[in-house]
Amino acid sequence: MQDFYSLTPLLKPESKHIYPIFIPFAGCKKRCAFCAQTLQTGQQEAELEQIEKRLKTSLGADCATRQKKQELAFFGGTFTLMPEYWQKRFLELGKVSNAAHQLHQLRCSTRPDAVSHSKLSLLREYGLKTIELGIQSYDSCSLQASGRGYTGQTAFEACSRVSENGFNLVIQLMPGMPGQTIEAFRKDIELVLELKPQAVRLYPCLVIAETELAKLWQSGSYQPWSIEQTISELAAALLKLNLAGIPVIRQGLAPEAELTSNILAGPWHPALGNIIQAKALYLWLSAKLGNLPASIVQIHLPRWLQGIFWGHKGELKPAYEELLITRDKVIFWEWPIVKFTVSGYN
Ligand code: SF4
Repeated sequence: MQDFYSLTPLLKPESKHIYPIFIPFAGCKKRCAFCAQTLQTGQQEAELEQIEKRLKTSLGADCATRQKKQELAFFGGTFTLMPEYWQKRFLELGKVSNAAHQLHQLRCSTRPDAVSHSKLSLLREYGLKTIELGIQSYDSCSLQASGRGYTGQTAFEACSRVSENGFNLVIQLMPGMPGQTIEAFRKDIELVLELKPQAVRLYPCLVIAETELAKLWQSGSYQPWSIEQTISELAAALLKLNLAGIPVIRQGLAPEAELTSNILAGPWHPALGNIIQAKALYLWLSAKLGNLPASIVQIHLPRWLQGIFWGHKGELKPAYEELLITRDKVIFWEWPIVKFTVSGYN
């Protein structure tokens, strides 16, 4: 018998302590065809005065009750296109002193055509650390078909500018958006690998009620990706990104009750993230096993993979059996590495 060791291909998801503040559609030039922020966030369109007032009274006390330091994050709109005085008023909230000093960082989400040098300077002045860019795709045809109003080059340059100015960069992509081909999505992943962001979010495009996309879908002008195609593409993407040390911190929208009841079509599953992780691990293992010099006797894997290894409701069990991986051969341990034990090897 002989042992072979390998680093785990998937990055263990880190639990970030984000205190989200949703400001639906604040600063947005127009509503994008696929966007339904009020359903996604479970909040009404932003009334900035009210949001600020509520935060001023509750933020300090709220944070003090939390065990870990919080990162205050402005999501759901285009932060850097809000009037400057509103950006400053919200960024000031980061300075809200609270007895437990439980606020330590600021983050915001915005569009790639809204991160000029002067806009970044303002964010830096207030100590904001992380910028999430709603890139969606670097493919100009897809961006045009989705009416995003910028080109792939603008998107790529914006990512570079954010990183060069010392911010943490989080890239958000939308596989399956109108006009996007599988090849274009694969190219998007190659560009992300080149840009080396601190993290990526993958939100497969869904058709949500009362959006422009819903009308396109009803008229037959838009066809979303199937769930099978989405899982297959995102698993391959996740594996590439993780192997390059880039974490994927979200796959699919969070299952808000109001959102799920309004999904008309598209690759939706409440456990999409786990399914994709399991498939990515399977892809990596099947390639690895093919390169072993003898048949597998036992395999040790990090314990955090225990909940996903066999797939959603054990759906990958038959596929693993074909690779001669049965339950009795799999052991989960505390080490962050994978150990393959093979027999008949001298
Ligand atoms: S996708 Fe982003 S920019 Fe477009 S409407 Fe929604 S929040 Fe605004």
